[in-house]
Amino acid sequence: LLAADGTVAATVFAEMSALAVSTGAINLGQGFPDEDGPREVLEAAREAIAHGVNQYPPGPGMPALREAISRHQHHWYGLSVDPMREVLVTAGATEALAATLLAFVDDGDEVLTFEPSYDAYGALIARAGGIHRTVPLRFPDWRPDHDELRAAVTDRTRIILVNSPHNPTGAVLDRATLELVVELAHEHDALIVTDEVYEHLVFDGEHVPVATLPGGWERTLSISSGGKTFNTTGWKIGWVTGPAALVTAVLAVKQYLTFVNGAPFQPAIAAGLDLPDRFFAEASASLAAKRDVLLAGLEAAGFATSVPSSGYFVVADAAALGEPDGPEFCRDLPHRAGVVGVPVTAFVHPDRRDSVRSLVRFAFCKRREVLEEASARLAALT
Ligand code: PMP
Ligand code: GLN
Repeated sequence: LLAADGTVAATVFAEMSALAVSTGAINLGQGFPDEDGPREVLEAAREAIAHGVNQYPPGPGMPALREAISRHQHHWYGLSVDPMREVLVTAGATEALAATLLAFVDDGDEVLTFEPSYDAYGALIARAGGIHRTVPLRFPDWRPDHDELRAAVTDRTRIILVNSPHNPTGAVLDRATLELVVELAHEHDALIVTDEVYEHLVFDGEHVPVATLPGGWERTLSISSGGKTFNTTGWKIGWVTGPAALVTAVLAVKQYLTFVNGAPFQPAIAAGLDLPDRFFAEASASLAAKRDVLLAGLEAAGFATSVPSSGYFVVADAAALGEPDGPEFCRDLPHRAGVVGVPVTAFVHPDRRDSVRSLVRFAFCKRREVLEEASARLAALT
């Protein structure tokens, strides 16, 4: 990441957002919504600031938020989580991932993820001294091969890091795959870490938290965040839940990373987690409608697509347009069409990029008229 001249390579998201700004293109690159989330959540943050919730909160997070996270895990998943010992609030899911990997990965330990994978995983695993192993998910259905998964887990595997619902593919891993993850973790004495930030944005199928599976809870740290669920990606309120001994080890690292974070946003996210089921159903239905708008637009423009079951993104194949090189296509697209996407190569190790060379990720967490305009621009691409 650090070049010889001392500069740091920007993440693909920072790079593509900068390109969108400099060209004035529609930014379907970095995944963030272009509308605010629920009024109750925004009001609660304003109130917290007005009422002096502006100093360091307690290290593990404010009790009101830890209790809301515990209620949320029980209400949605039937899990009993002790808010005082089994919940830790973090600076987004990103810090939760960083602190967890730093807590448990020693030099040479292997961490297994599916691939493509969220770009932070590889960077954080390397920073922790670990070795990143992967099992491929293949366009367009992204279903993992169970034999490949079995073969990838060995006694060197320290952590199986599962992201479902999945970025960038929108895949939701099925119960059988997650059960196999639990079985393999037991067989090889590995921990499971789950990244569930898109847990409430599922359109088809069902989100199954690994911690709910038989044998799952005792060796799983579950990570989520309020950013996607409440359209507050800039607030960076995340959390980890799991057995007290595991959560305590993550807290030991967090206390010297950020110490604490986001005081007035913590009660606001707590208010969000307590919203009625209707809110969550409407949020995902509204996003599913946006998915359909962008999917139709991409197909009309000649892309081959895979239909995401969840999340913010659709992956499209530009080879169908005669564009075999995704990174080059994405660099040119803002100039040619006024639209920004992200090449899927950014989510794959450099040695294995050929299989995803022509794939591009587009975000649909945008207003309908923005998606329609982007679709029209892509259809006019020559
Ligand atoms: N994991 C995944 C899969 C994500 O897509 C993101 C955000 N885009 C994160 C983690 C980071 O979440 P946060 O913003 O809460 O740190
Ligand atoms: N998670 C968002 C994405 O995948 C962006 C997060 C970031 O910019 N690091 O687009």
